[in-house]
Amino acid sequence: MKDIINILPKNVANQIAAGEVVQRPASVVKELLENSIDAGASEITIQIKDAGKTLIQIIDNGKGMSKKDALLCFERHTTSKISKATDLFNISTKGFRGEALASIAAVSHVSLITKQPGIELGSNIDIQGSEIKSSRSVVSEAGTTISVKNLFFNIPARRNFLKSDNVEFRHIANEFFRVSLSHPEIKFIFINNGSEIYNLTNSSFKKRIINLFGSKTQEKLVPVSEETEILKINGFIFKPEYAKKTRGEQYFFVNNRYIKSPYLNHAINSAFEGLIDLKHNPSYFLNLEVDPSTIDINIHPTKTEIKFEDEHSIYAILRAAVKHSIGQYSISPVLDFERDKSLDIPYNYKKDKTNSSVGIDIDLNYNPFDHSSKKKDYVNLDSFDKKIESLEFSSESNNFSEIDFKELKSNISIESTIQIDKKYIVNKNKSSLIIVNQQRAHQRIIYEKFLQSITLNNYGSQKLLHPVEFDFSPEEISVLNSNKTILNQFGLIFKSKNNQLTISSMPAYVEIENLKNSIEDLIFNLQNEIPKNSFSESDLISKVMAKSLSIKNGTILDLKEQQYLMNALFACKESMICPFNKKTYVKLEYSQIDNMFK
Ligand code: ADP
Ligand code: MG
Repeated sequence: MKDIINILPKNVANQIAAGEVVQRPASVVKELLENSIDAGASEITIQIKDAGKTLIQIIDNGKGMSKKDALLCFERHTTSKISKATDLFNISTKGFRGEALASIAAVSHVSLITKQPGIELGSNIDIQGSEIKSSRSVVSEAGTTISVKNLFFNIPARRNFLKSDNVEFRHIANEFFRVSLSHPEIKFIFINNGSEIYNLTNSSFKKRIINLFGSKTQEKLVPVSEETEILKINGFIFKPEYAKKTRGEQYFFVNNRYIKSPYLNHAINSAFEGLIDLKHNPSYFLNLEVDPSTIDINIHPTKTEIKFEDEHSIYAILRAAVKHSIGQYSISPVLDFERDKSLDIPYNYKKDKTNSSVGIDIDLNYNPFDHSSKKKDYVNLDSFDKKIESLEFSSESNNFSEIDFKELKSNISIESTIQIDKKYIVNKNKSSLIIVNQQRAHQRIIYEKFLQSITLNNYGSQKLLHPVEFDFSPEEISVLNSNKTILNQFGLIFKSKNNQLTISSMPAYVEIENLKNSIEDLIFNLQNEIPKNSFSESDLISKVMAKSLSIKNGTILDLKEQQYLMNALFACKESMICPFNKKTYVKLEYSQIDNMFK
């Protein structure tokens, strides 16, 4: 039989590859901008005509290319960014596949002018449909200018498939937003059909957002910041009231690369749950930093989708960080801030590496509901101040220097709480009433404290001088026994014999006169209410503990206990909901009350 397999000519192979990388003018803009960033440019100019259909030109002041490289860069699989397979697992550049320029040159007319700094003459290469038309030395500035004309001149089907100039321009603008947001330290100029539409100086991330999306954006932003072993987050969300019906501004950057992630988007949506209408979308601008070896970028030719090694943890951390920010923002009325300043709450906490978990200061002997030992200093507001001070707020953080932490503390109007109906603590401040459900609030506080002790490996327990004995049914005792290891970790140390349970140590936060009740609750909850979807066994037990040990609605609380609850609740990471996803408090604006009288 005759052999029938051919090796495709280079220009055909390049054209096929271009099908993946170059879908529309915006793809060219993205690839060229990324190359300029990889070249270390501090200033980049983008010029387009007719939505890029006639001309796309990118000018950078980066490191340029040698004469030889200027020719080689248009070959497929030519890159200066990686050289061996293992490099794929430690990518710090935007590009690495070495196919963008080859693909672009296969489907357009490209002119390249490039010069390395300190070299006298630059190189100029003209190439059309993968064919080199001319190559010469020229006088030029250091850096690189690439002009792409007549995109898809040789693929009429593609060219006809392009959308209206308006639509194609939107795509280009979106790429421009993504790239310029991921590098606020670079200056960008954008010229559309001869007029300059953006001139972005190098700036902070916040300033870049405001420069791109308008000065009104400033009041919408709430900062997000978190640092854990596996993930560092910084950026901004829009306050819930600015959620939009349309998709909104949604930006994730992972190690400075814009990525699309429906999964992480879901984490954000779920952090906003209950605060925005189901049909609305939150806006966010979030930079995530992870170890490059824990992600795979090479799963899509345009590199906008990536795989995380530990997707579930990233999801959980992101969700918690965003919730925390929303919580911080929404309690600012409690703290009686000036409105604008509330943006600058200095909670961009830096955690000390050894303690990179839930950043709450805990005193495991601290139990405000322990009436038997009133001498403890928790009833003293000074010690409460210390607690606040040692929260995750970083006092030496200069980023938010406008408002001093001392000022923040002194504005907490804790004297004005009252308890109503034996279950709500009401706090009034300048613009609203905050109504806290005491049981749910205490559940949240205990839950976070337990989680904290688990991550710190610092389980609190109170050793009993005289072991206490209780009678339980064998079935009840077996529930405790089957969870013995983890209950021990939580500070509950016990022995059992037939019907008898002997307790030698009990968890922090329990008062001895309530011990029997708490254990009954614990058994009941372990038997009946094992919450589903818990992240882990310790999360689950923390929930059960929170449920069992919390003060109940119906308990009368004195002023200090009320104040403790208010303050400890708002020091929580997720103060808005109890561990069982129910509201811990509601806010009633005075304007809402005014409306009731209309
Ligand atoms: P990749 O970016 O994946 O390496 P490209 O085809 O986009 O592949 O670019 C090929 C090579 O050309 C790059 O690795 C780089 O060395 C060089 N190059 C491209 N654009 C520029 C630029 N603006 N400045 C300097 N070098 C560049
Ligand atoms: Mg590239």
